[in-house]
Parts: sequence; C-alpha cells; structure tokens
Amino acid sequence: MFDGILGQERPKALLAKLLDEAQQDSRQKDRIGCAYLFAGPQGTGKKLMASEFIRHLFCATKSACGVCPGCLKLAGGNHPDLFSVTDDGDSLKIATVRAIQEDLRFHPLEAPRKVCLVEGAERFTQEAQSAFLKTLEEPRDDTLFLLLTDNPEALLATIRSRCQIVRFERVRRDQLAAWLQERRGLSASEARVEAAIAGGSPGKALAHIEEMRQLARATAQDGGKKRGDHKTDSEGSSAEDPRVALIREVAALPPAEENVVPLFKLTEKLAQKPGKADNLKMLLRTRLEILQTFFGDMLKIRAGQADEELVNMDLAELIRTRAARESIESLIAKLGLLEETRRALDDNTNARLTLDLLLMQLADLQLGFPPSACGGRVREGSK
Ligand SMILES: [Zn+2]
Repeated sequence: MFDGILGQERPKALLAKLLDEAQQDSRQKDRIGCAYLFAGPQGTGKKLMASEFIRHLFCATKSACGVCPGCLKLAGGNHPDLFSVTDDGDSLKIATVRAIQEDLRFHPLEAPRKVCLVEGAERFTQEAQSAFLKTLEEPRDDTLFLLLTDNPEALLATIRSRCQIVRFERVRRDQLAAWLQERRGLSASEARVEAAIAGGSPGKALAHIEEMRQLARATAQDGGKKRGDHKTDSEGSSAEDPRVALIREVAALPPAEENVVPLFKLTEKLAQKPGKADNLKMLLRTRLEILQTFFGDMLKIRAGQADEELVNMDLAELIRTRAARESIESLIAKLGLLEETRRALDDNTNARLTLDLLLMQLADLQLGFPPSACGGRVREGSK
C-alpha cells in the first residue's frame, strides 16, 4: 500500500491496521483513536503516507482504485469528507480552527469517517491551539484527525497527549543511496553524495536532485547563449555538477581582507535559483549541507581516513590538497560555523545576510582569525 515510501516500517504497519479497523462496522470504531500526530523530520514521507491512507480509506473498494466515485472526488479535490489544511507557510489562526469545527459538525457523507488533515500543524498560534484542543477533547467516532509536523515541540503538550504519535525516522544513508540509484537512476557515487547531503530525508534528496537537474539545464542553456552556440540538449550534460562547482569556488575563497567583492559575487551565485523563488532558504540549506560534506571530508582526510570514506569521493584530490592547508581545529570551527548558520536560517533570520556573514567568517578562519572576532570587521568592511 505504501510502496512509494522508503522505510518507516512502524508507521506503515500502524496505518495499515488503522485502515483495517476503520473499515469494520461502527460498533468497533471506538477501538481506533481519533487523532494522530505524524511527527518527524521534513521529507520523511508524512504527507505521502497521510494521502495514501486517505486514498484507501475513501475508496469504495478500499484499494485506491482511482476510478470509483470516492477516488475521483478525492483526486478532483472535492471530496465532502476531507477537510484539508495545506502548508503554505502562513500561521494557522483561530479562524482555521473555527472552519474545522464548522466542517466537523456534519457526519461523513460517503466515507467511513470524516478526515481532517493539517499539514504543518506547528503553524497553529497559541490561541488557535487552545481552541483546537477543545475539539480534540470531544472526540467523535466518525472523525479522524491527521496532524503533520516536523516540530512537535511547537504544539501544546495537552494537544500532543490527545494524539497518538506516529514517529517518522530518518532513513539510513546506505538505504537511501540504494533507493536513489534504483528510483532515480543515479550512479553509485552520485547516490552516495545525495544521500549524505539529504541527511536521511528521501523527500529532500528528491527535491535536491530535481533542483540540480534544473540548474544544470539552466546553466547549459545560459552557456549556449553566451557562446552563441546551438543550445545543448535538455539534459545539459555539458554543464558542471553544481555541487562540484560550489566546492571548487569555496575551496578557492579569498581571505576577506584581500578582496570583499568576490565574496559578494559568490553569495549572489549561491542565492541564485532558477524557477521558483519561494524556496531560497531550502536552497541555501542544501548549499550549506554540501559545504558540510566538503569540510567533513577534509576532516576525514586529516584524521587519516582513506579516499573511499569521503562523501565527495570524486573530488578526493582537491580535498587532499585543500586539507593540507587546514588544521583539525580550524576544520572543526568551520563545521561549527556551518551548523550555526543552518540554525540561524531555521530561525527566520535574513537568509542573504546570514550567508554573507558565513562566507566572511569562513574566509577569516582561513587566515586563522577566531570566528568571534569577525562580525564587527565584516560590517565595517562591507559599508
Ligand atoms: Zn476507488
């Protein structure tokens, strides 16, 4: 049933059982809980699992057949028994809770249960959570709440305790790499890099692969125009891998004192995104993760590990050369800096500024300045 989802064996088993029970006659319905909280890192399959579950629950033949009235309505986005709150990034205010309550006043029309699906449940304001709690406190056996979040701590403890928590875990790196090879036709070394960057999140890996392909296509077209050549084919095979390009550029990063301009140019480049502009942060996070693999690889070299242990095995030579100029202390400091920057991005700070500061600090570390001394100088220098 959940074939498209990698790993997550426990949630799969639990939902299969839940589905089974939901289809029993009404006397048995009280055996199932009324609210489930899918909690786990971004891209581990929470949304996919929820929609697969609903597709089966709403199907007349319980098989997500795709052709019965229930399946067709669901696919058309107009099934009367589903109330769905999608994640558009906005906070969820009390009006959303009211709308949910209003919708749930009615009994299911066609499905065995009414389902209320909330993606990004951490977006509920405190006030909205208090109101929502009241709804959860009066469970009905013909409704089912599916709340999805990658930050369960943002929810009131009283809400969490009203839900059965379904935990989604990060997938093992080798498992993810094998899956990417099989599903996306990556080579073994590509799959290895993608799996390392994604940090156990299949969704993130797929998004990143897609993004890299777009970038490669855009670069190929751009290059074609500039040279006045014929356009390269749509797969852009002539374009350099953006991961390789990024690592090369950062490896050649000049110290901030020498020249500030190239750093800003590089930031421009890092922040550049073909297509949709709404995912800048995710893109930056990915770039930071690539850099983490780069500095992490250097640390491995300094610790005497073999080339085969590197994530960026294909860049072993560059990494060796660069690692010879680094001390273990400075590498650890840089990795710490990258981690800090990633957290700063999560805290909604200005993405561009955060990145500018990071690049300056990385350059300073190259000269051996302590990171804490950089902030003031950077601001002065960039006036
Ligand atoms: Zn069906």
